Amino acid sequence: MLQTPEGGLSPMAGEIAAASRPDVKSLAATELAAAFREWGEPAYRLRQLLDGLYRRRATEWGQLTDLPRRLRERLAERFTLQPLALERLQSEPDGATKFLWRLPDGEHIESVLLPANPALYGEGSDRRTLCVSTQVGCGFGCRFCASGLGGLRRNLLPFEIVEQVLAAERWRADQTAEPRPGRLIDNLVIMGMGEPFANYERVLAALRILNAPWGGSIGARRITVSTCGLPHQIRRFAQEPEQFRLAISLHGAADAVRSRIMPVNKRYPLAELLEACREYRRRKGKLLTLEYILIRGVNDAPDQAARLARIARELRAKVNLIPYNPVPGLAWERPEPDRQKAFLHRIRAAGAAATLRREKGASIQAACGQLRLRAETEP
Ligand code: SF4
Repeated sequence: MLQTPEGGLSPMAGEIAAASRPDVKSLAATELAAAFREWGEPAYRLRQLLDGLYRRRATEWGQLTDLPRRLRERLAERFTLQPLALERLQSEPDGATKFLWRLPDGEHIESVLLPANPALYGEGSDRRTLCVSTQVGCGFGCRFCASGLGGLRRNLLPFEIVEQVLAAERWRADQTAEPRPGRLIDNLVIMGMGEPFANYERVLAALRILNAPWGGSIGARRITVSTCGLPHQIRRFAQEPEQFRLAISLHGAADAVRSRIMPVNKRYPLAELLEACREYRRRKGKLLTLEYILIRGVNDAPDQAARLARIARELRAKVNLIPYNPVPGLAWERPEPDRQKAFLHRIRAAGAAATLRREKGASIQAACGQLRLRAETEP
């Protein structure tokens, strides 16, 4: 393991980050503008560069033909321009598409493109949602999740997060007869491999690039960050100026139940987590989502539904129930459909808002990391 679970860089991981030139897609427009000023380039050249990177999704300097050759050479001397390589693609029965990307250093991460689903995070019915990763592996070891099985390997750099969107859009454009420039993904959930708040600065830098009008142009309200529940980082997130959404992976409504599923609960028990959520709610006045994976005989009892409803009512949060997706090597199972529905009805009857994700979206979170696991264990 190269890092602490909360993302403190070990010397080895620090070397990986510092060894090469930064990638151009790790930098904000203001940082790039400084280089352009130093080179005496007019402001419109920077606009051309950003248009080439984020609207036309260039993968090589040579594709930025509206920039003079000398400027392209200067850019290549100062920055890298590295696309993610698509290593595997998998279509899920629920209509989702899973991508396994190879990173420049040979590590692997996953993204999941979800079909339109009004019941998911966006309000509209025609969202193209991408679930992105923020770390290679994960140090938190939630018991339902394949991403944590091999521990944490390293944090993703901002461009490796941004590129998941651009690379998925390149793939999607290739599927249509006419590859189109411009946004093909308009909703993001930061719920793939890794704990985003354990890689806080890099994740925020990437989200700002994806949100910026000169960059990804994805509205902040259409970007949802999902955390396993780090109270200090939730408080920090509450102070950010952007209106990003927050989802909490709860999965247990009492400490004994949650600790069995999520070891992080032993370090940050529910009382502490919920206090941070209250503060987030007070500061942001925004809707929180509580994620709850239903696991048979573990967290699907009526008392958990009652407690979950109380928590949701108090936080004025929406509950998103997700039937467990079996992970090879783990013994847990999903409850029978009737039991899932009964759990949902108990929450609603107690006056809390809740949805039960039936088909679409089952691929995210519970099954996240499985494609990478398979790729790394198969010959
Ligand atoms: S659910 Fe999230 S925090 Fe938990 S092990 Fe998986 S990736 Fe890590």
